[in-house]
Amino acid sequence: MKTKNVELVLAPPTPHMVGDGFRVHNFIPSGRNLDMKRMSPFIMMDYNSKFYFPPTDQPRGVSVHPHRGFETVTIAYKGKVAHHDSSGNSGIIGEGDVQWMTAASGILHKEYHEEEFSKNGGDFQMVQLWVNLPAKDKMSTPKYQGITNDQINKFELPENGGEIEVIAGQYENVKGTASTFTPVHLLNAKLDKGAKSSFNFPANYNTALLVIEGSIKVNDVKNVPANHFALFENEGEEFIIEATENTIVLILSGEPIDEPIAAHGPFVMNTQAEIMQAFNDVNMGKFGFLED
Ligand code: MN
Repeated sequence: MKTKNVELVLAPPTPHMVGDGFRVHNFIPSGRNLDMKRMSPFIMMDYNSKFYFPPTDQPRGVSVHPHRGFETVTIAYKGKVAHHDSSGNSGIIGEGDVQWMTAASGILHKEYHEEEFSKNGGDFQMVQLWVNLPAKDKMSTPKYQGITNDQINKFELPENGGEIEVIAGQYENVKGTASTFTPVHLLNAKLDKGAKSSFNFPANYNTALLVIEGSIKVNDVKNVPANHFALFENEGEEFIIEATENTIVLILSGEPIDEPIAAHGPFVMNTQAEIMQAFNDVNMGKFGFLED
């Protein structure tokens, strides 16, 4: 098996606010070399690095907005998010939990800090990914997977080295908890200082990692500190992570969806005509209804 090398390491870009509740660094698609194709099927990654929000009686967040043509995946590391959508799904995404929402043919939703968290204030740290859908599934029925941490399948590393949470895909003999439309691996590697683990993905899969906590060394050569993003080459299959401190690393790898992308704001389709259709359908009320 050939080594998969790091192509580039990106420091966190200047953050911007999404609504008033999410202070995010955008790595995909605005990072160097990272357009919507480069990390397909991962077409967007916003990272709210650890940030303290003071107490408030008015929960911060993003008011009602539509999505069509892809999935939003929210991974909570600190703080809590409340979610409501027009298909009638709602839930709280707490620390360690994952929400996998398939917007597909279209939903309206809103994302706010959970009420109690807002009242108390606190550290907030979260990743939101957009996972593209193949053309044949873009108009399928919306779906919702609210995955609590205890439902996430885990691989225990030897010698108490830590664990790998298999959110989707597979690690060793452990299958991921979330169901996906195309082959996607999404892992949280929680390694203790000094622990090593190896990862193995097909060469053509687009692969990257984000260091959430601590720091790591990849393939014995590349240091990646906290809040940094490392993109891998599309050559070779295997890489090794060594925790140089206690660490949490989000690892993503997926088979590229080789189809045209037409994207505008909250819609990701294949053609411009489909984008126009999405705007029309929202105006016609075809995405349902959700109170602000
Ligand atoms: Mn949204």
